Amino acid sequence: MRIAVIGAGIVGAAAAWELIKDGHEVTLIEPNEPGGRQAASYGNGAWISPASIIPMSMPGLWRKLPGYLTDRNGPLVLRWTALPALAPWLLRFLAAGWTVAKVERTARVLASILRDGPARHAVLAREIGRPEYIRQTGLLYAYPDRKAFDGEALAWRLRKDNGLDWLELDADELRQREPDLSSNYQFGAFVHEGAHCIDPGAYVGAIVDAARERGARLVKARATGFVVTGGCLASVVTDQGPIECDRAVICAGIWSKALAEAAGDRVLLASERGYHGVIASAAAGPKLPIMPSDGRMANTPTPAGLRLSGQVELSRPDAEPDWARVEILIAHALRTYPALGPRAGLTVDRWMGHRPSTPDGRPVIGMASASADIVHAFGHGHVGLASGPITGSIVADLIAGRTAGVDIAPFGASRFRFFGS
Ligand SMILES: Cc1cc2nc3c(=O)[nH]c(=O)nc-3n(C[C@H](O)[C@H](O)[C@H](O)COP(=O)(O)OP(=O)(O)OC[C@H]3O[C@@H](n4cnc5c(N)ncnc54)[C@H](O)[C@@H]3O)c2cc1C
Repeated sequence: MRIAVIGAGIVGAAAAWELIKDGHEVTLIEPNEPGGRQAASYGNGAWISPASIIPMSMPGLWRKLPGYLTDRNGPLVLRWTALPALAPWLLRFLAAGWTVAKVERTARVLASILRDGPARHAVLAREIGRPEYIRQTGLLYAYPDRKAFDGEALAWRLRKDNGLDWLELDADELRQREPDLSSNYQFGAFVHEGAHCIDPGAYVGAIVDAARERGARLVKARATGFVVTGGCLASVVTDQGPIECDRAVICAGIWSKALAEAAGDRVLLASERGYHGVIASAAAGPKLPIMPSDGRMANTPTPAGLRLSGQVELSRPDAEPDWARVEILIAHALRTYPALGPRAGLTVDRWMGHRPSTPDGRPVIGMASASADIVHAFGHGHVGLASGPITGSIVADLIAGRTAGVDIAPFGASRFRFFGS
């Protein structure tokens, strides 16, 4: 079949690769560089974590909302100006984490697409001939003490319930593994199944290059809609003219909302803006990717430098970046690895991007309402790098008419039917 894949972030690249393997004629439609700075896939924390099954919305979150509106230095900030537009999303977000039972369900659903993320990435990187992009080093969650870890008992219980194992480290064991880590951290949970990518943007570019070598076409254009006649897809409309095809896949990250609507589905999708600062030639830092519990950020060693990524900023997607958020990440890192500083001596590459987030933390994957020839594959929020390959394989299964190895009912766009805006 002739298949148009809209968007070349990690999801589009992985989908294109799986579709090429199935023998289809694939056209990738992307207005920018695949995996370039515009994409969330470029600047993420690079974690491929089977532990990332805990949704953002947890019971009791509503009590913290006033703080998020007023505290400019916390890990989550909500802009007053964005409130009216975000209200439907926010209400659904709070509802998604209202009870423990709801969060248990979300964790189960997310586990179904995150459990084998490291293994799938290892296979994908090998298939494209670039195994070096994925490192199976494990991932470390660092806490001030055991009490702080116990304070997240629900999250770790959910991980245990979903089959995840980890190794608990006391202060000495933590220091042996991470000599530069501040003594403010006395307890760790090491998830040995976890992996990371050493350069997510370049990795996406390499997947697209490999797909092109096997015959995929890359068209520099922006998709704007679809021509559907009698329920059958005729073409994808782009700013460079129509592209005729038999099937189309919407995987344009945060920019998917309008395309989904053109395909008959109104979805709740908001940008949880996030930031990174990459410190080149860092004099100190972690040996393994570390998430310090008090910073809610990923500290990932990469060949380009120490990548500090995090922050959730609920704001208009087109608002100017607030670079103070990167300074918050750097200030935290200076406390986490005291030998890093001082700030004045550091060269930092700053980046802001858009997590394509649904309020319930689940991506949107499945056939579109206007035509079963259009497949949704977007809304991966905080876990799109880790779940990109499995999404690509579900897309290929749907298009081939095979049963996907994962129950995709929880990912359907119809769950927004009464709430879409
Ligand atoms: C700070 C931060 C940290 C994160 N950390 C992690 C992490 O550690 N692990 C993890 O798993 N996930 C993480 N994420 C989330 C992850 O990065 C995203 O979920 C994922 O990259 C989304 O991929 P995507 O392909 O859907 O979208 P994107 O990567 O945003 O790609 C979408 C592409 O579509 C293109 N496009 C846009 N409009 C159109 C159009 N009309 N026509 C054609 N193409 C179009 C864009 O140019 C872009 O290239 C993080 C995100 C952020 C912001």
